[in-house]
Amino acid sequence: MDIRELISKTSSEQRKALLNKEVSAVELVEAVYNQVDAVEEQIGAYNSLTREYAIETAKKVDEKIKNGEELAPLAGIPLALKDNINLKSYKTTASSKILANFVSPYDATVTQKLKADLIPIIGKANMDEFAMGSSNENSATKIVRNPWNLNKVPGGSSGGSAAAVAAGEATIALGSDTGGSIRLPASYCGLVGLKPTYGRVSRYGLIAFASSLDQIGPFGRSVEDCALLLNTIAGHDEKDSTSLNQVAPDFTKDLRNDLKGVKIGYIKELCSEGLTEDVANAMNKTIETYKSLGAEIVEISMPLIKYSIAVYYVIATAEASSNLARFDGVKYGYRAQDAETLYEMYVKTRAQGFGDEVKRRIMLGTYALSSGYYDAYYKKAQQLRRLVKQDFDNAFEKVDVLISPTCPHTAFDIGSKVSDPLSMYLTDIATITANLAGIPAMNIPVGLDKTGMPIGLQLQANCLNENKLLNVAFKLEEAVQFDYSIPLKTLV
Ligand code: GLN
Repeated sequence: MDIRELISKTSSEQRKALLNKEVSAVELVEAVYNQVDAVEEQIGAYNSLTREYAIETAKKVDEKIKNGEELAPLAGIPLALKDNINLKSYKTTASSKILANFVSPYDATVTQKLKADLIPIIGKANMDEFAMGSSNENSATKIVRNPWNLNKVPGGSSGGSAAAVAAGEATIALGSDTGGSIRLPASYCGLVGLKPTYGRVSRYGLIAFASSLDQIGPFGRSVEDCALLLNTIAGHDEKDSTSLNQVAPDFTKDLRNDLKGVKIGYIKELCSEGLTEDVANAMNKTIETYKSLGAEIVEISMPLIKYSIAVYYVIATAEASSNLARFDGVKYGYRAQDAETLYEMYVKTRAQGFGDEVKRRIMLGTYALSSGYYDAYYKKAQQLRRLVKQDFDNAFEKVDVLISPTCPHTAFDIGSKVSDPLSMYLTDIATITANLAGIPAMNIPVGLDKTGMPIGLQLQANCLNENKLLNVAFKLEEAVQFDYSIPLKTLV
């Protein structure tokens, strides 16, 4: 197989080529860098490249292949790492001016796991500043363009991770998801993306946005790739106090199970109003597909969804205002030079270092937490969060998996929502509840709209039920046969 074609394939196909010695790991990584050289100027998926590390890792893989040693399932498979996850000795900027020169003094736990499995990291993927956004237009570095159509956003906040995989600048990627930041870009860029159960994957070394919602997860060109990458990164970590003290199962184990008797609930409130015609049609078609695969379809009502955006934007901003207090010019990154007093240094550093959206969130969160407003906003939001969780608990007594669109529409035009933060926040309507409830959720591409942009559907399962989720996604993927390689053919 031609190497340009190989870089558009899944990890399993690339692994086969590596093991059959059709291509070396170094050649595969070089081919991906050639693609980066060819398309990166148009896409903007990376804040920085980590070439030296990637090549060194690929050489170790080749050495092992030469010696006939055992290889981890994703050894040698090129990966994009979101730029809010620490990789020792390389820059980790969270796409913020305030961290523009910050070099990680340590590895995140997930990074250590990637290293242990000899997975080459191609670069640090662009993102919305501090993971705040839905379009990747809030990056202080540069915007990211959607490889399917360069005038469209790739989704956010892990837009660089998604665009890198869609454009062949990586085969797999890690992102973080606080309210949909893996699933939304996966949906806009035609990829599989998974947010695991809260606590499944260690957050140690992930720059915190909203700690009770953040979770790291995989992107890939197949459900199996996501399951394999989840196998790599999941598991207990004593360095993260919210990490689940449980041995993770093999997430590829149940992929091929039959769907006979599996109950799938479609969420009424997310499947009726506000969808574009193409998304609604894709949803209906998928329900028919599941029926033909033997699944039972049930309607589920979750009336509290209408409050979820308000609840999320109170809780997430409250936690962000606290988490981002540490960026004051003393310990990390950027420091304003023209300050006379310590206080002035704090103020100027934060005024100059943070972008508009980050400032907006810090102000909102500080306001919601201030005495006098705490009960009215923060406490109320926490009470509603519990009720949202209860809604899911009730639903999962009736069904195994919930289905809805990931977003009511496909990727929108660059610039079309930047001046209206509220309309940007509304793109998260279907995704944020999974973070509020801590449940696993994923995007799976099911087709294209009239303009040729990918349509993604969201599947959600109860806590720790990733295997059921992946099984239901895998079966749909088999039936749909989505072509992940289209953007690779249209880009140079
Ligand atoms: N779009 C949401 C936000 O702006 C979610 C971001 C995320 O998941 N990191 O907060």
